[in-house]
Amino acid sequence: AKEEGRNTFCYFSAEISTATLGELLLENDLFGALERGELLLHYQPKVDAASGEIVAAEALMRWHHRERGLISPEQFIPLAEENGLINAFGEWAIRAVCAQQRAWLDAGLLVVPVAVNISAHQFAQQDLPNMLAHALAEYGLPPQLLELELTESLLMRNSARAAAVLQTLRRMHVQVAIDDFGTGYSSLSYLRQFPVQSLKIDRSFVCQIGEHGEPVRLASAIIAMAHELDLTVIAEGVENEIQARYLAEHGCDQFQGYLYGRPQTAAAFGALLAERQLA
Ligand code: C2E
Ligand code: CA
Ligand code: CA
Ligand code: CA
Repeated sequence: AKEEGRNTFCYFSAEISTATLGELLLENDLFGALERGELLLHYQPKVDAASGEIVAAEALMRWHHRERGLISPEQFIPLAEENGLINAFGEWAIRAVCAQQRAWLDAGLLVVPVAVNISAHQFAQQDLPNMLAHALAEYGLPPQLLELELTESLLMRNSARAAAVLQTLRRMHVQVAIDDFGTGYSSLSYLRQFPVQSLKIDRSFVCQIGEHGEPVRLASAIIAMAHELDLTVIAEGVENEIQARYLAEHGCDQFQGYLYGRPQTAAAFGALLAERQLA
């Protein structure tokens, strides 16, 4: 029963929280969130599996609601996708990451590439390469410092268009990772059409390592398949040493998860970058 509860949490947490929030009708407040400056980004480190060094980060959006405090993206991103706000939110996130990277560079820090999540709706609506080019130019940022995370399901739904956009991004030297991989059953041959640099194993596989069974075997199969395509493999949601050891033994390249660092404020992450400088 305990194991059942855990699996349920792994798979269904997003759906439950979205429904609850819909009932609470936060949607009205969401419309003014951007103008009121209530959106912010937290940064979570990605570390090298062998050295444990920070090699990259993911920017994760938060909404600081004046009464309710920090609200998780699992609660407001689905709403923003339904009402179209996601385009403005997504563009804000890209520009905010560029501005932050510029500030860290100007402070003399040894920065790492930072990834931004792109929603399916945003991908379908926006001229992403054009918007990215403008943001990078405005902050004078090398394109290698910005990464995009696109989910496997997004790529599968718009595969022809996705492949074309990814070609453009590759020419621009903007890195792309396939996010939440393993949930869509993409094959090796299918993946070949997408010029991406890395692949993130979904947390639903990682969180079951140590329990034995199909999902665990899938995690190692995904790593082998990704390496076949010369992709860097990142495991998300690594919470304990058992998971880290298993993944490292199977050749996983990078880890992201509470074991190495929670998503944290820009100031806190900047302090980590500064430590890195001294090391
Ligand atoms: P995601 O892209 O799969 O991001 C990883 C999520 O796993 C994050 O949740 C992160 O805080 C969480 N996480 C990281 N390590 C661990 C761990 O060790 N254990 C557990 N239990 N969780 C861990 P978060 O920040 O709540 O974001 C949830 C989702 O919201 C993201 O999933 C992403 O799909 C979406 N999201 C976040 N920021 C943005 C954004 O700027 N734009 C878009 N379109 N979506 C975003
Ligand atoms: Ca992500
Ligand atoms: Ca993910
Ligand atoms: Ca995920």
